[in-house]
Amino acid sequence: MGVESDFIWMDGKLVPFAEANVHVLAHGLHYGLGVFEGIRAYTQPNGRPGIWRLRPHLRRLFESAKIMRLHHDYSMEDVETACLDTLDANHFPEAYLRPLIFTGMGAMGLGVRNNPIHFMIAAWKWGAYVGQEAMDRGVRLKTSSFVRHHPNAAPQRAKVVGNYCNNILARYEAADDGYDEALMLDHHGFVAEGSGENIFVVRDGVVFTPPEMNILPGITRTSVMDILRHEGIEVREQLFGRDALYTADEAFMCGTAAEVSGIRELDKRPIADGNQGPITRKVRDLYAKAVRGQLEWLAGDITHR
Ligand code: PMP
Repeated sequence: MGVESDFIWMDGKLVPFAEANVHVLAHGLHYGLGVFEGIRAYTQPNGRPGIWRLRPHLRRLFESAKIMRLHHDYSMEDVETACLDTLDANHFPEAYLRPLIFTGMGAMGLGVRNNPIHFMIAAWKWGAYVGQEAMDRGVRLKTSSFVRHHPNAAPQRAKVVGNYCNNILARYEAADDGYDEALMLDHHGFVAEGSGENIFVVRDGVVFTPPEMNILPGITRTSVMDILRHEGIEVREQLFGRDALYTADEAFMCGTAAEVSGIRELDKRPIADGNQGPITRKVRDLYAKAVRGQLEWLAGDITHR
């Protein structure tokens, strides 16, 4: 399975993995009403795990819950402690953390508001999300025939469980056609993001990324922009079409699970010479260092005990 651990935090306490269950009539399972996060902890110089930018992830989780009207009584501090407890209980040196808030069993139907709301946090070991070869050589992308949700159809800022069926369709289609990942366009035809990653292109030394309009505002995206600007590299948030990737000097994508991966090809067109360019390699290496507590100016962005 790959998602095993010793304990899962569920509704306020750590429970053994096999006991963290819900009923098949859980409301969220039927209608996709839930919000989640994906967070990573890395081994720090002291040998203990530390969580990268936990507060921004929890802020987005709380905002997702607010948007979807999933009321719960936990404070940000409670959930921060719960994340650290989950890590400690499972003794993982590095882990992916998955908080999920969802509606439980009670009444059925769309207008239901009084069902219990469950809050769980799991941890597991997750290696290269896009596959090691794609990570090392760069990802091969295909423009998806599935369009990213219109903002008035599904909230863009929220990581809503049900929204991800759109991303799954895109990912399946890309994989079926022999690609590593899908490039999703918005309803205007501009580049939005990957199925689970934000996108960057480089041209003449300037880095471009779509603005926070039709994308999930990624925590890694912000980290990458912070790192680039700290290196004196200009970053512009700007709309562009898929042809900007066809003609880019470099392109890369990033996300908590995928980390920073170069893009080698889009729609059978190699990006530049098909190798990962200097800015991609630089930001990838610096991000890998930052999350492991090896960049002093970002050490304060790691939460640990
Ligand atoms: N876009 C989508 C659709 C995602 O699911 C993710 C992963 N959460 C991202 C972008 C990247 O966001 P982050 O860097 O916060 O993981």
